[in-house]
Amino acid sequence: MRAGNEQMSDLEATALIEELTAAVGADAVSVSVEDRAYYGTDRCKGGWTVDARAVVRPADVEGVQRVVRICAARGIAIVPSGGRTGLTGAATASRGEVVLSLERMRRILNVDVEARTIRCDPGATVEDVQRAAASEGLMYPVDFAAKGTAHIGGSIATNAGGVRVLRYGSTRAWVRELKVVLASGEVVKTGGALVKDNTGYELRQLFIGSEGTLGIIVEATLALCVPPLGTVVALTALEDGASIGALFRRMQDSGLHLSAFECFDQGCVRRVCDHRGDAQAPGPFAQPAPHHVLIEVEVPPILRASHEGAQARIEAVLDDLAICLADAQEAGELLDAVVATTPRQTQELWAWREDISESLHVATPHKADVSVPVSEVVRFMEAWRDAVHAALPTIPAVCFGHVGDGNLHLNLLCPEGMDHGVFLSCAKSFDAEMYALVESFAGSISAEHGVGLLKRAHLHHTKSPGEIALMREIKRSIDPGGIMNPGKIFEMKIPV
Ligand SMILES: Cc1cc2nc3c(=O)[nH]c(=O)nc-3n(C[C@H](O)[C@H](O)[C@H](O)COP(=O)(O)OP(=O)(O)OC[C@H]3O[C@@H](n4cnc5c(N)ncnc54)[C@H](O)[C@@H]3O)c2cc1C
Repeated sequence: MRAGNEQMSDLEATALIEELTAAVGADAVSVSVEDRAYYGTDRCKGGWTVDARAVVRPADVEGVQRVVRICAARGIAIVPSGGRTGLTGAATASRGEVVLSLERMRRILNVDVEARTIRCDPGATVEDVQRAAASEGLMYPVDFAAKGTAHIGGSIATNAGGVRVLRYGSTRAWVRELKVVLASGEVVKTGGALVKDNTGYELRQLFIGSEGTLGIIVEATLALCVPPLGTVVALTALEDGASIGALFRRMQDSGLHLSAFECFDQGCVRRVCDHRGDAQAPGPFAQPAPHHVLIEVEVPPILRASHEGAQARIEAVLDDLAICLADAQEAGELLDAVVATTPRQTQELWAWREDISESLHVATPHKADVSVPVSEVVRFMEAWRDAVHAALPTIPAVCFGHVGDGNLHLNLLCPEGMDHGVFLSCAKSFDAEMYALVESFAGSISAEHGVGLLKRAHLHHTKSPGEIALMREIKRSIDPGGIMNPGKIFEMKIPV
């Protein structure tokens, strides 16, 4: 077997490209510097070398199989590539791998209204799937800001979460069936339409969240649900972390169907205003507040809803939410609150939350996506802020997240005037302390973005040595040559 680029002779490299070209066509293979750089990385700028040997974009399952067989025979590693919106470097080719992009396989194959399922190619975007479901009066509830670019295949390979996990769970909960091309080039189908199936190991779940290290997802069947009649959204301003916890408990106890409870701090608001070119704007409220929580409540579907009937239901939930927030204000939990009364206002309120990732991305922050038990979110958030302040007093730290899932996105930002390289090494030097803090709260070093290259050195804070050893064994038995995205999740030598 073969190692990285440097160990392949020019003759062998030419032969590989010729074989790939014969397998999938010249227009589907590229060795241009631009394509190798573009397809060889994802949204995580972790400072790794980008060194893709070639980019291959097969148009169908058979094409994927041919590429895998060629690479397996030559011992060349493969990086499956989706929308490359990943935030852990999992889609990065840094050691002469072939990047296999699924972007040409993006058909919606079937929406089965009766079974409430959708079958699609891996390169369909999450938004394509949401739209196709909506056109049949159904809903695919996994939702996150990168949905327009992230592929279904990538979202399954990372078990994407997003803003409605609180009500609907992560991608894992919605995958019914997968077709996967294994390292041998064979296709395995796992899962199906059955609600109950107690026949041994649940292989489908093994591929979900495996970050391309066990095989290439080439088709997915996903469950759909009936959408709510509507949603009601409010944005609130709060003084401190304790109020966030109190408000969350109040909303849970209210009997309202909470579908999102998203927090963000004043630092996030400032970045969003900057990004919108309106740095002087006060933010969502006239008086800036230390913390904000966006609340979304669903209006459950009803049988044979007339337009008037539906509207009346929505207004009733709107009233209930307003009463709940008024009670919270009276109890001193809120500084201010606004409830959206039009679709446009709803969008505007959501935009404060959804624009955060993009606005922080501009400053190439050092990010962490962690989770702790829900009851510990507020205490953890405060402990993290104190720890950053003590260790890195000049580095701004901002935080947002899905309080209802115990999931926080922690961001260290490069101060103005500081060299970015210096900033990164400062920020990274804090990782060990931060992940130890996560461990002390019995948390996870990765709530929803995965491990990739970014977090593999910290995996031991969440997984025991026994679990890591078992994961390695599973990898070895499904991919004995180690050609599927090696080195992601845990260190593994590229095949030699
Ligand atoms: C603005 C922004 C907001 C985000 N918000 C969220 C969020 O709220 N929640 C969340 O969970 N994530 C979020 N993410 C992260 C990212 O969007 C998700 O991880 C997404 O699921 C990745 O999908 P992708 O197609 O871009 O995958 P890629 O980045 O291309 O790949 C991710 C991993 O999947 C593997 N892979 C890709 N396709 C396949 C396939 N067909 N078969 C096997 N393996 C494959 C790759 O090798 C890699 O290991 C966000 C990202 C951005 C940029």
